[in-house]
Amino acid sequence: MTYFDNAATTFPKPLSVGDEMLRCVRIYGGNPGRGAHSVSLAAAKKVFECRNELAELFGAADTDRVFFVPNTTYGINTVLKGLLREGDHVIISDMEHNAVWRPVCKMARDGRIQYDVFKTLTGDAKQNPMRICANIAKLIRPNTRLVFCTHASNICSATLPIRQIGEFCHRHGLLFAVDGAQSAGHERIDMRDMNIDALCVPGHKGLYGPQGSGAVILGEGITLDTLVEGGNGIDSLEAQMSLQAPERYEAGTVATPCIAGLCEGVKTVRRMGIERIAGGEKALCGRMREMLGNMKNIELYAPEYEGSIVLFNVRGVPSERVAELLDRQGICVRGGYHCAALAHRTLGTPDGGAVRASVGMYNKMADAETFYRALRAVTVATS
Ligand code: PLP
Repeated sequence: MTYFDNAATTFPKPLSVGDEMLRCVRIYGGNPGRGAHSVSLAAAKKVFECRNELAELFGAADTDRVFFVPNTTYGINTVLKGLLREGDHVIISDMEHNAVWRPVCKMARDGRIQYDVFKTLTGDAKQNPMRICANIAKLIRPNTRLVFCTHASNICSATLPIRQIGEFCHRHGLLFAVDGAQSAGHERIDMRDMNIDALCVPGHKGLYGPQGSGAVILGEGITLDTLVEGGNGIDSLEAQMSLQAPERYEAGTVATPCIAGLCEGVKTVRRMGIERIAGGEKALCGRMREMLGNMKNIELYAPEYEGSIVLFNVRGVPSERVAELLDRQGICVRGGYHCAALAHRTLGTPDGGAVRASVGMYNKMADAETFYRALRAVTVATS
C-alpha cells in the first residue's frame, strides 16, 4: 500500500506515538490539573511537556500560550469567535479551507461580522509578497480587525508569504491569525519572527500525533473570549472563567492520551528536522510532477509550486473515479473538493474537483514510480 493522503492525516505514525498513548492509559492517565495525587500530577507533567515541545517548535512567547483542542477546525473557530467582536471586519484568503470559510460565512450571515477575500495566486512560484499585501490593502476598512489565512494550501503546494503578511498586518494595526493545518511540521513557523497573533495547528497531520489532537498558540498580549466554559481545575468558586491561560481555553477534561501521543510526534519531527522533512517531500513531489507532466491526458494544477501536494486530473474521468481505481492498486489518494471550495475555485478545477496526492515523511522516492505505474494503468483503462 502506498499512502498518499497525508494532507488528510499522516499515516503511519511513529511507533513511539502509539507506545506513549498506551503508557498513558496504563500507567499515568489521571486527569491533569484535577487533583494533587500522583497519577493526576504525572498526567499534568506529560501535558506540560507537550505544551513545551509545541512552544519551542513554533517560537511561542511562553509555554502557557499553548492550549489543546481536538483538531484544527475547533482551534480556528475558537480564534475567530474569540477575537472578533460585533461589527468587526475580517479579511481571509482565496485559498482557505472550509474550516475558515464556513465559520466566517456563518458569523457574517448572523450579522455579527463582515468579511472580504483577498487574492493570493500571483502566477509565480515565489508568491509575490508585495502583490499579495497590496491585495489585502485594497480591502482594509475602518472596522477591519483581523487577517486570517492559511499558511499552506491543502489542495496544492502553494504557500503564502506569512512573514510578510504578518509584518504588513502589524504595520496597519491589524491582528494576524494563521491556519497552520498543512504547514505545521512541513514548513518552518516562528510566531514571533512572522508576527503571528494566533496559530492553529493539527496534531494529527504534519506533527504525527493521533487524531483528536490539535493546538492553538497565542501571541503575546492576545486574550480570546471563550468558546466553551466549564471546569478547568482552577478558580472553582468563581462563576466565570479566569483570564489565566492556558486553563481559560481548556474547559473540561483534555484528551491526555492524545496529547501524550502528540508529544512523541512533535519530538520525532524536531529530531528529524523540518528542513530535512521538507526537502524529502519536495524532492518526491517534484519527481511526481515531472512524471505526470510527461503523461498524456493528465492535467496538473499549480505545478510551479514546490511542496508536499500534487493536484491533477485524468482528462475526461471524474476525480473520485480515478481515486477509486488507484485505491484498487493500493494507492491511497483523495478525489473531490477536499473541503476547500474557495481554493478549488481559485485554481479553476472543473466540476468534480481533482485528485490530490499528498506525501509525508515516511514516503520514499520509490513511491513515485509505484504511483506512476498505477496511474498509467488508470489512463489506459479509462481511455
Ligand atoms: N485547514 C486546512 C488548510 C486543512 O487542510 C484542514 C484539514 O485538512 C483543516 C483546516 C481542518 O483540519 P482538522 O481536520 O484538523 O480540523
